[in-house]
This record gives sequence, structure tokens and C-alpha cells, in this order.
Amino acid sequence: MFMIEGVCDWCKQPALLTPHQYLDGKIYCSCKDCYEFACMDVRLYNQEEEAAPFKKIRSDFSSSQRLPTPA
Ligand SMILES: [Zn+2]
Repeated sequence: MFMIEGVCDWCKQPALLTPHQYLDGKIYCSCKDCYEFACMDVRLYNQEEEAAPFKKIRSDFSSSQRLPTPA
């Protein structure tokens, strides 16, 4: 899971990260410490997006983009 070396998008610390994908296709990475918070964050965001009256591009990103390749 936590296989990407980089900087956590939540705590901004260098760590091993795992990706989270938002409904709009953006991918953010969290470290282990931030994982639960990040999951909650992403879930809430995606719920809001789904509830939004104006649907954004959802079909534009395919499942092939789900995992970024580690640098
Ligand atoms: Zn973190």
C-alpha cells in the first residue's frame, strides 16, 4: 500500500505514501499517519461532489489512471 516515496499531501512530511483519488480525477498521497484522515477527507469531498447540482467530469478519468507510477 504505502509504496510511493514522496511528500505527504496532508502533513507535508517526506514518507512512504499511498494514493487517494478524488472524484474529479486528482490524486493525492497520504502517509500512514494521515491515512485515516485522508480517507475521510476524500470520502467527504467525493460525497459533496456527487451531491453537487452540477456534475463535473466523471467519465473522463478511467480506471487506468487510478495509480500513479512511483517516481
Ligand atoms: Zn502525512
